[in-house]
Amino acid sequence: MKIDVSNVTHEEAKKRLAELRKELHRHSYLYYVLNKPEISDYEYDRMFQELLALERKFPDLVTPDSPSQRVGAEPAKEFKTVYHKIPMLSLGNAFDEEDLIAFDKRVKKEAGVNSVEYVTELKMDGLAVSVRYEKGILVLGATRGDGIRGEDVTANVKTIRNVPLRLYGDDIPEVIEVRGEVIMFKKDFEELNKEREKKGEPLFANPRNAAAGSLRQLDSKITAQRKLHMIAYGIGEVIGKTFEKHFEILNYLKKIGFAISPEAAVCPDIQEAIRRCKYYTAHRNDYPFAADGVVIKVNDLKLQEKLGATLHEPRWAIAFKFPPEEAETIVRDIIVQVGRTGKLTPVAIFDPVELEGSIVSRATLHNEDQIKRLDIRIGDHIIVRKAGSVIPEVVRVLKEKRTGNEKPFKMPDRCPVCGGPVVRLSGEAATRCINASCPAQVKERIVHFVSREAMDIDSLGEKIIDQLVDKGLIKDYADLYYLTKEDLLKLERMGPVLAEKIIGNIQNSKNRPLENLIYALGIFQVGKHTAELLAKKFKSLDALMNASEEEIASIEGIGPVTAKSIKDFFASEHNRKVIEKLKKAGVNMESKAEENEENLPLKGYKIVFTGALKSMTRSEAKELVRKLGAETPDSVSKKTTLVVVGEDPGSKYEKALKLGIKTITEEEFLDIIRRFEK
Ligand code: NAD
Repeated sequence: MKIDVSNVTHEEAKKRLAELRKELHRHSYLYYVLNKPEISDYEYDRMFQELLALERKFPDLVTPDSPSQRVGAEPAKEFKTVYHKIPMLSLGNAFDEEDLIAFDKRVKKEAGVNSVEYVTELKMDGLAVSVRYEKGILVLGATRGDGIRGEDVTANVKTIRNVPLRLYGDDIPEVIEVRGEVIMFKKDFEELNKEREKKGEPLFANPRNAAAGSLRQLDSKITAQRKLHMIAYGIGEVIGKTFEKHFEILNYLKKIGFAISPEAAVCPDIQEAIRRCKYYTAHRNDYPFAADGVVIKVNDLKLQEKLGATLHEPRWAIAFKFPPEEAETIVRDIIVQVGRTGKLTPVAIFDPVELEGSIVSRATLHNEDQIKRLDIRIGDHIIVRKAGSVIPEVVRVLKEKRTGNEKPFKMPDRCPVCGGPVVRLSGEAATRCINASCPAQVKERIVHFVSREAMDIDSLGEKIIDQLVDKGLIKDYADLYYLTKEDLLKLERMGPVLAEKIIGNIQNSKNRPLENLIYALGIFQVGKHTAELLAKKFKSLDALMNASEEEIASIEGIGPVTAKSIKDFFASEHNRKVIEKLKKAGVNMESKAEENEENLPLKGYKIVFTGALKSMTRSEAKELVRKLGAETPDSVSKKTTLVVVGEDPGSKYEKALKLGIKTITEEEFLDIIRRFEK
């Protein structure tokens, strides 16, 4: 990956570097903290290489916060921080043979030697961890974080089956930190995504994100369910044992119970290391886990010490990155899928090609903007790739191969599933179907409608909803109110007692407060809080339906985009029919008198909750105090009246202390509630 910066002026470089730093920071955050990358690793590496090239040319423009001066991203606040005595660094990158030869020259020059022995290992694509053993017992597991400060994930690391809780053998030092990569095997990743798809949960983009997302869980029970593995590749702090060669360390790690990179090898010189890189590249798809390259390390530890490290990477190792696998194919169609949340996603269907060991024939085009950017048409020759991410992507269109018969794509203006209206709100990339009875979304919408914070219809789980829809007994959430006990008895595993209970719960939900009904309708961008604001202002669903967009947008806390979304929702004839059915069934559409009462005991209070409560969930606690007139914002500010502190409180607690806001325990909170409920 050669980036030519020879013609770039100082002024241009300054501007471009600022842009690159901003972009790289954003993508690092998405990748390391949220585990939700928006771009491929290849695109990230390209930007990073451009940054390095510009900083090399203009060293005065290097800033301390440049991604070239730091590793990864700050640890997340939810975890306890662990300080790494010996930093956990990143690696410099090589993209071809030339880069590897240049690396070898640098090593020899800086170490003052004529020949260097290397070790090659596969570069596993997961996330780095350090596992500390004292007297052979696992005492701490930490992520790399920013290299100096990582996250304490001990409980989670302990659930990884191939991480020994106690080291094997007699030759165990007083302290040893084993460093390695936590990965998910490709087949486990595919299974996990299949399950998530079934449940309607967002999919992981690749095994790396799945592994990182699974290890960085606050609940170690979730980590335990995900099949993670650790592959050890080195050590951090060691007390009571010395080594001379890196390869000796790998063999030792194997002996005390760790898996190491398959086919790790000693190479007498860089030429052999290059041959190994070619071998690994040819076999990259044969391994059960995703690998994104080969790490080449100086074998002699004394030489390693002499070479040292920069703030970002050791000078004695380099990562050779596999080139992304690409293939040429022809687009046969662009179809539009409607997701469970109503999002319209265009998908390119192309002649099947093999990429990274699997056959692919479709790639998401995400949205209208992406189609415009690529200028992709039906009949186009395209290049597709996987680039470390399992989900294939269209890289570019080979416009030079166009014949003139290619057909441009137009986003449909009606939903392809139900024919209902679609809208694209300003500032949003997605086009959505807003029909409450769209079959593609109906199950998801009903699940939302019955959920606790919405209409709170207990005992009506997803499996029952699936059956009701599949058997044609309901077409939208309003149909729930017309179900009979006999209808329910047609379902599998349904007895008269449960059927009666469900019917009773449905009937009871007719009295839910207006704000819950508004939330239950599932209007895009209308969450619980917005629904409350709307109910407070309009006091009836009719008034809200007849309100102008301006009137809605004038409410503090509601922006113009949400106002438009609300207006669009009620403008749909389909949706008005559904609401009419709700009304006929007798569902409450007005604010109740007591909700309007000005003199509720906690009126004017702003109460924030942090940490877990023992006696109820946080949502239940919020609902309780809201009924007493309090507001429950999600963050602490100077205006907060009280902070209720549960177990393992988060940063809100620290902020409350800093601002001098009164904090109370769960017991004190319950006392207050009891006092008012009497
Ligand atoms: P890296 O992944 O390129 O290399 C360093 C890491 O390699 C080490 O920390 C270690 O965890 C791992 N590793 C795997 N096998 C190893 C072995 N045998 N020996 C030693 N280390 C081994 O560097 P990084 O700093 O973790 O991440 C940077 C890379 O992450 C980028 O090059 C890019 O590909 C990707 N990234 C992508 C995005 C995105 O938005 N797509 C954003 C940020 C980073």
